[in-house]
Amino acid sequence: MDSSWANLHVAILSSPGMGHLIPVLLLGNRLATQHGVRVSVLLVTTAASPPVWELLKLPLHPLVQILELPPVDISHLIDSSAKVVTQLCLMVRESLPSIRAAMDPRPHALFVDHFGTDALHIAAEFNMPNYVYIPSNAWFTALLLHSPLLHQQIPGDYVDQTDPIQIPGCKPVRPEDLVDPMLDRKDQQYQEYLKVCTNIPLCDGVLINSWKDLEPKTIQALAENRIPVHPIGPLTREVEPGNRDSDLVRWLDRQPHESVVLVSFGSGGVLSQQQMTELAWGLELSRQRFIWVVRHPTQGAVDDAFFRVTNGHDDATLDYLPQGFLSRTQNLGLLVPNWAPQAEILSHPAVGGFLSHCGWNSTLEGITNGLPLIAWPLYAEQKMNAALLAEEVGVALRPRALPTSQVVGREEIEMMVRALMEGEQGRRLRGKARQLRMTAVEALKVGGPSHTTLCDLLANISST
Ligand code: UDP
Repeated sequence: MDSSWANLHVAILSSPGMGHLIPVLLLGNRLATQHGVRVSVLLVTTAASPPVWELLKLPLHPLVQILELPPVDISHLIDSSAKVVTQLCLMVRESLPSIRAAMDPRPHALFVDHFGTDALHIAAEFNMPNYVYIPSNAWFTALLLHSPLLHQQIPGDYVDQTDPIQIPGCKPVRPEDLVDPMLDRKDQQYQEYLKVCTNIPLCDGVLINSWKDLEPKTIQALAENRIPVHPIGPLTREVEPGNRDSDLVRWLDRQPHESVVLVSFGSGGVLSQQQMTELAWGLELSRQRFIWVVRHPTQGAVDDAFFRVTNGHDDATLDYLPQGFLSRTQNLGLLVPNWAPQAEILSHPAVGGFLSHCGWNSTLEGITNGLPLIAWPLYAEQKMNAALLAEEVGVALRPRALPTSQVVGREEIEMMVRALMEGEQGRRLRGKARQLRMTAVEALKVGGPSHTTLCDLLANISST
């Protein structure tokens, strides 16, 4: 450990949701483990939020302390149509008094995730260096930074554009792949999104969970930006040997090398009944081994589970699966209700592919285990992630149409799973993922680009 920063104390604000909390805790652990920095993680909570990190079993370095902020109630501010981004931004806004109170004693710097940018002015009040941590990729970050200009340049809804949306120096974005809040300019979450995008340039620098070898062109383009963008990734969970002792891991131990595909839609993803049926049939017809993290189908939004992730005990009935599916696939697959130890599963040698919703944490967990993906995006920035992985990075195949625009049929699923697990295409994608896994290790090791970036950032903080 480099202990040059042993007297530094930083606070990192995490908005609710696994996809934010996990990378925040990983950043905290990294700062503590590699650099000896003391870290307070300020966690925005609501009365309804379950104690999420207990699900994670993520060992924290003793220098990392979690401070749960008092739960906020936003029910009087929203109606049932309020989208995820609206809710996240309101939760942070309602927590501002307790975030300010947590600045005593004053840390040396404040980091906020991108839904926490309303708290940046607190850092300014306390005259502290402040950073926005976007726990995602460079391309999405470029879109965020460019969105205030797009708002001025493009009249009407983005989805009605016939041409791809241009971002300077980056791959253009197809209108249908844009992030959720850009899909409807009339919804309140677009206003919240725009506020986030306008706030980001107020900070001293942006941290992203990516690395140069994954997105060389986009990271280069971001270097031209007025706000410094620091790639510090890929930060992913490491698996503790003790966690390998479970029925699930014992099942994996009995499967051949690289023979199992993990099917998981992150912390928030839910499918329709019809899509669940097609997916079940597709998996069965593929005759490939699988672990499938199943959730009760929804008639509502595809991110229905976002604020209510649980450990599975409340959802044990599987009557939504096709009749006979369980008995016909009992030697082929394993179903896990709601929540599975994804990091452990992906690092197991029996796993050879990942059908994923392309949340950025899941994506990184796949790549850093050298796994090819089937990209099945559902919400947030996942459609961009899927396009990036399939078209630019070359580690994923994906359905012909977006799964949010039409049901993916069983034959297509069968074909994709086979291609991933035993086809030439799967072999090529796996080769690329393995190559990237090596560059990820290089990026993070002492003297590697992501490690050096964090050292430089800490040097800036300590000299302020
Ligand atoms: N995760 C998990 N078990 C599950 C579902 C998700 O451990 O059953 C973890 C997953 O490994 C990842 C995080 O939750 O680290 C989800 O983050 P991601 O960015 O992939 O997607 P989000 O849930 O934010 O959509």
